[in-house]
Amino acid sequence: MSQLLRLSRALLCSGQQAAGVGALQRAFNTSSRTQHAEPQPVAAEAPSSVPRWIAELGAVRTDWTREEVAEVYNTPLLELVFRAASVHRMYNDPSMVQRCTLLSIKTGGCPENCNYCSQSSSWSKDTGLKAEKLMDLEDVYQAALRARESGSTRFCMGAAWRGPSQVGNRQWERVLEMVKRIRGLGMEVCTTLGMLTPEQAAQLRTAGLTAYNHNLDTSPEYYPKVTTSRKYEDRLATLEAVRQAGISVCAGGIIGLGEGPQDRVGLIHQLATLPAHPESVPINRLVAIKGTPMEGNEAPEGIDLVRCVATARVVMPRTVVRLSAGRLDLSRADQALAFLAGANSIFDGDKLLTTPNNDRNEDQAMFDTLGLRSRPAFMNYPAGNDTSREFEAGAGAGAGVQAEAPKAAEAMGGGGGCCGGPKKAAVGGGCC
Ligand code: SF4
Repeated sequence: MSQLLRLSRALLCSGQQAAGVGALQRAFNTSSRTQHAEPQPVAAEAPSSVPRWIAELGAVRTDWTREEVAEVYNTPLLELVFRAASVHRMYNDPSMVQRCTLLSIKTGGCPENCNYCSQSSSWSKDTGLKAEKLMDLEDVYQAALRARESGSTRFCMGAAWRGPSQVGNRQWERVLEMVKRIRGLGMEVCTTLGMLTPEQAAQLRTAGLTAYNHNLDTSPEYYPKVTTSRKYEDRLATLEAVRQAGISVCAGGIIGLGEGPQDRVGLIHQLATLPAHPESVPINRLVAIKGTPMEGNEAPEGIDLVRCVATARVVMPRTVVRLSAGRLDLSRADQALAFLAGANSIFDGDKLLTTPNNDRNEDQAMFDTLGLRSRPAFMNYPAGNDTSREFEAGAGAGAGVQAEAPKAAEAMGGGGGCCGGPKKAAVGGGCC
C-alpha cells in the first residue's frame, strides 16, 4: 500500500475526511518530500478547524446560518461541485433526471409587476403580449397527454394571476378539474397560480395536486427591486398554506435579476431554513424579455448556475433541484456539470410559459450522451412532510419529518445510487 493511500485512509478513518483536499494535499506533499527518508507522522488537522457543513456533509438541517451558506457558495467551484456531488449520491440516483412540462394555462394580463416578466399588464404595451383567457379544460388535458407521451412525468400549469381570489368561481373550478383529470393520467401535477389562501390550498390538495410552485425569486433585501406589488412575507405565507395543506412545496428563484452573490446566498438560505426544506427547488436563469424593465440584464454564465445548484444541493440534500428557465443557450458541458452538482430535473418542451426552451430531441440526445435516465413520476419526495404517494394511499396530512444526518463515513462510501444513503433518510418508504 502506498504511503499516500495509507495517509488517505488514516485521515478518512479518523473522521478527518472533512479536512478534505487540503489535508490530503499536505499529506501528499509530505509524502513526496520524504519518499527516500523515514516516514514522518502527519499531524491531523484539529477538528475545530473543519467547517460544520463539511464535518456534517449531507446532514438535513434547517438551522443554517447565512454565513454558513455563504461559505458553501464561496467554496472554490470544483471543490464545491465535488462536495455537492457527494451529497447528491447519498440521497439520489445521480443518473435519474426528471422531465417536466410547463404550460401557461392563462397568459398575460397579470396585475403583479414582476420586473422580469412579460406577462405583467404593467408593461404589456412594451412587450406586446396580449392577455388571454383561461384555457379550456380539454385543451389542457390534451397538452398533458402529449407531454406524457413524450416522456414528461410532471405537468405544471401556470396562470398569470395575483392569485385564485382574483378570479370567479367558474374559472377556479375549471383549474381544480384540470388538476383532477391530469392527476388521473398518472402524472405529478404542479400548479403556479399566485398567492393562495389556506382554503384554496386545501381545495387543490383535495383535487389531487402533487406540488405547488411559488418562487421566492431572490433574497428578502433584493426583493423590492424585483417587484413592488407584493411582499416577501406574502410569498412565505402562501408557502406555509401549501405546506399545511399537505402539498409538496416547490420554491426557488431566478439568477440574473441584477442581484449580487449575497442575494443568491440569501435566497438559498431562506429556502434551507423554512420549517421543512421544499421538496422541489427550481433554479432559473433569467431570459431577458424585450419590453420588460429587465430587458437589458445580462444572462448569468452557466458556471453561476452550477454554483447555485451545488450550493442548494449541499444545504438541501434531499430536495429535487430543477434546472428551469434559461437552459436554451447553456452548453451541454455546463448542463453536465449542473447534473454532477446535483440537479435532477429539467423542463422540456419547446416553450416555458412564454419563453422558448430546449428541443426535446436535443435533450434526449444529451441524456444519451451523459448516460441519464428519465426519473419516473412519484418517486418519493424524501424531504418535507406529505408525499404524493401518501396522497395516493389516502393517508392524509402527516407531521413534518426531517431525517437524521447520515454518518459522514457512510456518506463518503455511498458509491453511486441513492441506495448508498441510509434508508431512514427517506420519509414514507425510502428512496430506493
Ligand atoms: S411572474 Fe407571475 S405574478 Fe409576476 S407578473 Fe409574471 S405572471 Fe404575474
